[in-house]
Parts: sequence; structure tokens; C-alpha cells
Amino acid sequence: MPTIEFKNLVRQFGRVTVLEDLNLSVGDGEFLVLLGPSGCGKTTLLNLLAGLLEVTAGTITIGGRDVTDLDPKDRGLAMVFQSYALYPTKTVRGNLKFGLSAQRLDRAEIERRVLWAARLLRIEELLDRRPAQLSGGQRQRVAIGRALVKNVDVFLFDEPLSNLDAKLRTEMRLEIKKLHHDLKKTVVYVTHDQVEAMTMATRIAVMDGGVIQQIGTPDEIYDRPANLFVARFVGSPPMNVLAARIELTGNRVVAQHEPTGVEMDLSDYAFAQRPESGRTVLVGLRPEHFSIGKPNGSQPAAVFDLPLRYSEKTGSDGTAFLAAADDLLAVRVDHSQIGGLRDGAAVRAMFPRDRFNVFDAGTRQRI
Ligand code: ATP
Repeated sequence: MPTIEFKNLVRQFGRVTVLEDLNLSVGDGEFLVLLGPSGCGKTTLLNLLAGLLEVTAGTITIGGRDVTDLDPKDRGLAMVFQSYALYPTKTVRGNLKFGLSAQRLDRAEIERRVLWAARLLRIEELLDRRPAQLSGGQRQRVAIGRALVKNVDVFLFDEPLSNLDAKLRTEMRLEIKKLHHDLKKTVVYVTHDQVEAMTMATRIAVMDGGVIQQIGTPDEIYDRPANLFVARFVGSPPMNVLAARIELTGNRVVAQHEPTGVEMDLSDYAFAQRPESGRTVLVGLRPEHFSIGKPNGSQPAAVFDLPLRYSEKTGSDGTAFLAAADDLLAVRVDHSQIGGLRDGAAVRAMFPRDRFNVFDAGTRQRI
């Protein structure tokens, strides 16, 4: 079955190395999301897997079979592109059938598969229309249908929802997730949208600069980011980062943010390497983990009394931006609290003991 393995993969364009010695394994039935900013190499990796680009070095295997030099059509996968790439002169039925032209199938089987995919994607009534007569969401369904009819074990998606509006994106996200749940096929999905990644993936590979920064479940990526890049890329508003000096007294570990004088009690933090006194570290605090007013349950590990610079409402909740000397501290506040905030007034923001992330100030890796 299709476990996909990339081994020591290199891809260069001229003298520019876009992927360098990349190793990655995708399990059978996984929904693996390649997540990263524009230009990080995720589409290149997907195209190498699809066979649309040649590797410079390294190997790709699918289900133990070396596919590195195989034609795209012989790799047993189907791809859905951002641009849909539908044939404007063909009907929806014609577009779906076209996906099967490389496979030698009898008419009845072709018809059976087209109807199966159309039913699954709720586009049966649209089979005789042409792409120009469809909405964006319907076109995207046809593009997915064209991949589905191929009846392969591996599906590749390259930013398939980028051209849709926010509401349709949410709907299609759920549909793709449901399809994966029902069909149990392996999916490799490229996006720069962290919400897509967090909601759909069984595992996420976060990429930057052609390098996989971390691979893990959405919870692992969110709760235990391996480095500052991952920490700041996932989460909105992004994680606050304060440079602070470590002070050890017995079993107590405190990080002091010198510009505000605030002490953050890191005694319960599970250090991989416990830092020595005097060392500067970067402490990460997610906006949504603060509470304002009274503490959230147990004794807070840090209390910030800071002036409000400004606030933003986003409907159901909002963000208060507090002035922490030269830094701005983003703090999520709920809808009922945000109306009472006044620019310039002092806000007490408290942070719980179990939500810190700590990074080395030099390497920016989690410690
Ligand atoms: P996006 O989200 O913008 O599509 P991406 O993460 O998918 O970005 P890639 O398209 O894989 O990024 O590109 C990675 C890097 O490789 C970029 O710096 C890009 O400029 C470069 N690149 C891609 N294709 C070529 C090419 N044919 N020739 C030269 N450089 C290329």
C-alpha cells in the first residue's frame, strides 16, 4: 500500500538549490499537509512526487516501488491544481471522462465512475454544463471529480482552495476532509493557509527555505513548536516573543523581561535542556492563552500590568495590543471585555504556568 518515501531529495533550478537533502515519509491513508510561506518549495516537492519535475538527486518510492524516473501517468496518483485546469469546450461529463482517457476502460465502467464521482461531489445535475456555466466552487468540485474517477490510492492537491471566497473555502475544506474520511486514500496537500492545515491534516510538515522545519500532528505543531519559525507561522495573531534573562534559585526557574521588569515563572516548563542563570532566552506566549482581569484557574505564572496601545475587534472576540516597552504584546480578549478597554488605560494580563514555549536566543530552537 502507498507509503510514500522521499530519500535525500535534492532539486536545483540552475545554480539555486530549492530542496536540499529532504527526507519525508507519508503513511498509508494519511492526510499530509505541506505548509509554508510562498517560495518555500512545497509546490516543487509536490511536482517532484507527481513526476511533473525531475529530481536532481535522491529517490521517491510509493508502496516500496521506486517511481523516481517513472512517467506521471505510471505513478498511480491523481492531482488537483489550484487553477482547476478544466477544458472549457467540454461538458462536466466530458471533463470527468477525460481524466480516464489514459486508462483503457469499457464504456460502462467509465460511466459508472463518472456517476459515482458526480454523486459524491453533488454535481450530478451539472453533468451537461460547460465550465463557464459553473460557479468557482462547482468548478473546483469538477476538478476534484476528475482526480477521483481515476480510482488511485494517492491524491495530490496544490492549493486547491486559493481561488475561492472565504465561505466557499470553509465549505470545500469540510468536503475534502469528509472525502478523505470516507475514501481513506493517502492525500498530500499543499497550502500556505494554516487554518486549512490545522483543520484537515493528520500530520503537517512545516517548510521554510526548502527545509522541513517540523513534522507532527496539528496539536504537536501548535503545542510544541520545534523552533521559532514554526511557533510564529502557526497561530493568529502570531505568538508573542519576549527576550528574557534566566534566573535560577533552587528549583525555581524565572525568566525576567528586563524592559518591563515582569518575571515569568518557568518552574513547571519541561525544558529539554535546562538553561543556566544569566542566559538570554526567547519566551513565546500565545495571545489566546492570556486572561485579563482575574486569573484563569490556578495562580498565574506571569502578570503584565501594561498600557493598552490599541485594540481590534473581530466579531466574536478581539485582540488587545499592550505596550511592553519596545514590544507589543498581543492578548486575545473576549467580546464582552473588549468594549470596556480604553486606549492608554492599564490592562492586567495574566499568563498560565503550563503554556510557555521557550527557545534558544541564538539557534531559535525549542529548549
Ligand atoms: P508558492 O506558495 O508561492 O507556490 P512554493 O512554496 O510552492 O510557493 P515553489 O513554487 O516550490 O514554492 O518554489 C520554490 C522556489 O523555487 C522559489 O524560490 C521559486 O522561485 C523557485 N523556482 C520554482 N520553479 C522554478 C523554475 N522553474 N526556475 C527557477 N526557480 C524556480
